[in-house]
Amino acid sequence: MLKRERCPGCHGQASTTLYREPLDSPAITRYLLAHYQQRVARDFSGYDYELARCRHCGLAYQAQVPAPALLEEIYDQWLPATERALVAARWGLDDYRYLAAQVEFMLEHFRLRPGAVKALDFGFGWAEWAKMAGAYGCDVCGAELSEVRIDYARSVGIPVLDASALPQGEYHFINTEQVFEHLLEPGDMLRRLGRSLRPGGVVKVSVPDAAHSLRKLLGARSFAALGEADIMPIAPFEHVNAFTHASLAALGRGAGLALLRPSLRKLYNSSSGWMNPKSALKTLARPVYRHIYPRSTFIYFARPA
Ligand SMILES: [Zn+2]
Repeated sequence: MLKRERCPGCHGQASTTLYREPLDSPAITRYLLAHYQQRVARDFSGYDYELARCRHCGLAYQAQVPAPALLEEIYDQWLPATERALVAARWGLDDYRYLAAQVEFMLEHFRLRPGAVKALDFGFGWAEWAKMAGAYGCDVCGAELSEVRIDYARSVGIPVLDASALPQGEYHFINTEQVFEHLLEPGDMLRRLGRSLRPGGVVKVSVPDAAHSLRKLLGARSFAALGEADIMPIAPFEHVNAFTHASLAALGRGAGLALLRPSLRKLYNSSSGWMNPKSALKTLARPVYRHIYPRSTFIYFARPA
């Protein structure tokens, strides 16, 4: 394990310890065994699950994080490898519709022929967004660390770039979905992605909202009080940055990016599913709570033109 001595968002040196519990406590051990299906073969005595909050930008983060060798072990060996089948088994029409709405919004925003839009799916996972953008005719490529996912993306025709050597000033749009909560240096990464955008380009950052989980943990002062859904946004080892709307917005400002307030007309024009009562309600409400009175951790940031 490594100690993060400065804020991973803004590099500020001043932080407050919010919470600390030994990593081998009964509650955390129970969670790790269940979450990784008994594949955890390490002794964590002497290390803590430790949450700190930066006094400068307000980001809450895990102060003790896995060293590179342990990270590799977690992502390659502990996590189940059958996720691609799981995505296909779990996703319904509304999930794909929502992806389509995001791609349509991107195209509405730039008002360019889809083939003229250069897009990057950064940390693409099983390349769901990249495939959707490709289906709409965009010039899309991806970057990802996992070899098995890279092979899959190439097999479905998505070009894959080296994440550490991205071109400068290249993209109209960069998609990141459930990426920034995992990064050891999210502030540096958002600055790098910002430089890869053209002037006026947009990067989407979507991460779990940790506000509720943080409140619950800091109220109960015990990991044992958390349910599965509470643990997810602040999961030990994996979700090492616990964003709220405010700290994510601060991350964007620190990277020299501006919060984009998308036009409601363009958001509504990019969504379908209106005739189904359940999805229509979501379709109606989401643009308002997410982008008009934003408190959420799904943010479009724009590089100043
Ligand atoms: Zn900070």
